[in-house]
Amino acid sequence: MSQTLGELFANAGHRFAGNVAIVAHGRQRTFAEVVERGWRLAHALRERGLAPGDKVAAMLGNRVESFEVYVGLALGGYTAVHVNDRLTATEVDYVLSDSGARALVHTDGASGVAAQLALAPGLAAWFAIVDDAAPSGAESFDEALAVADSSPMPFGDDDEAIALIGYTSGTTGFPKGVLVSHRAVVGCVKLVPYAYRLPLQGHAAFPGGWSFVSGLWGVIFPHFYTGGTVSFIPGATPEEWGRHMVENGSTFTLGLTPLIPGLMAALQAHPQALDTLQSVLHSGGPLPAELAEGLVELIGDRLVETYGMTEVVGPITITNRTDWRGLGRARNIFESVGRPLPTSSMRVVDADGASLPDGEVGELVIAADTMFSGYHGQPDKTAAALRDGEYFTGDLGYRDEAGYFYLTGRAQDLIISGGANVYPAEVERVLLLMDEVADAAVFGLPDDRWGEAVSAAVVVAPGASLTEDAVRTFARGQLAGYKKPVHVFLVDALPRNASMKVMKHVLKDQIVDAHQGVQA
Ligand code: ATP
Ligand code: MG
Repeated sequence: MSQTLGELFANAGHRFAGNVAIVAHGRQRTFAEVVERGWRLAHALRERGLAPGDKVAAMLGNRVESFEVYVGLALGGYTAVHVNDRLTATEVDYVLSDSGARALVHTDGASGVAAQLALAPGLAAWFAIVDDAAPSGAESFDEALAVADSSPMPFGDDDEAIALIGYTSGTTGFPKGVLVSHRAVVGCVKLVPYAYRLPLQGHAAFPGGWSFVSGLWGVIFPHFYTGGTVSFIPGATPEEWGRHMVENGSTFTLGLTPLIPGLMAALQAHPQALDTLQSVLHSGGPLPAELAEGLVELIGDRLVETYGMTEVVGPITITNRTDWRGLGRARNIFESVGRPLPTSSMRVVDADGASLPDGEVGELVIAADTMFSGYHGQPDKTAAALRDGEYFTGDLGYRDEAGYFYLTGRAQDLIISGGANVYPAEVERVLLLMDEVADAAVFGLPDDRWGEAVSAAVVVAPGASLTEDAVRTFARGQLAGYKKPVHVFLVDALPRNASMKVMKHVLKDQIVDAHQGVQA
């Protein structure tokens, strides 16, 4: 038996008692306060009839209390169901009813949707963390905690028990509930400081929120483990972001691809931030090589690029400091997601699951210490994805002879045109080289002659003008004939989900609806 997440939190709370754990909206909480209030929540739920292992839905915004909720659920041995508050109403509805939660804790914005779940039979507790009166039927979180016991309870001793259920981003369909054991999440929390080079008692400027479950185990929990502070700055302008890092001596920050230009502007305006900043994480989706190159110009070897997914809790591959120096650049490093960490291994397989040689594109398959325990309520999907302890990612890519991995897109997005494979990511990279192109997504449309026709949806950069033909001409100069887009559609925006990823199935439907008879 290793450690449960609750034990890890209790130890950190003891060791770093006086440190500030979390800052949000000008309020803060020390480690001791977070753990004390965490125990109170654990007791408050026990008093309302919940037992260890019961599921508690948490739909939380950027408040200091949000962290107390996760700590409390871990201390009490409950399974936290992470509900992304940025999902659409339909998705939230789905996630809440799918989860089987027996209790609910939520912050301000989520009251409306929360009320739907609160009507569910069997709900034993409903706590609202709100500035005004709690919605009818809900109890005030603060009032419930004020009268609850704060003494420690015994920890569970099963590290395969489920600590968390986190939902995937829903890029390829409905989000899937990923069962995360104490083994997996604790393994991740202990791995991250090494992988992302977090110093002891550091400071994270966190531009995200509670929306993404990967932010919990990838940033927030690891900072707590190492005595650090996480400061929430969602929606900060580049100026605010830069100033915040300087004022707080931030050691760490991060961004999804759409945030990277803002981060670069923040650092250009406040270069002193680089005096303390030790690492900058990018993850979650492709980072165009040009952007990566510009970022490395600015921050040097602080960049940590990582590949991962909800199912394999935490990072799988990373780039190292040396990758950004001369040696690495020769290897197309700007297009690589790096090499596997010591806790995981990854191979590239063909359709029969047989390993492919270096350089050949196939599905990426992962073995890792932090593997998920299955999809909640979906045994068929679990059996398809998790085979003999390996996770079949549905992502395509290859490995070079030096062991670096490159992603070429998702298997379900692969375009087969005239019998040849076209990887959308490769075409997208080329289209994004055009100054007039702000955003681009490539997909296949049915085609009588070729089977599928390479098709591109392109968002024109503000102030620029562009024609479909100009896109085709540019692509022709950069790509082999069979890869160049046959259809080009100029669109206002691409349909992105809460994780800012393009939902290609939605995009295709939109295009087909808007352009009847598009088939060539
Ligand atoms: P769903 O599984 O519901 O369709 P999702 O796969 O987008 O959604 P996540 O688990 O949040 O949900 O995302 C993991 C996926 O993100 C990976 O499988 C991969 O396709 C993509 N990804 C992660 N890191 C990178 C990266 N560094 N570069 C490119 N793509 C990445
Ligand atoms: Mg996925």
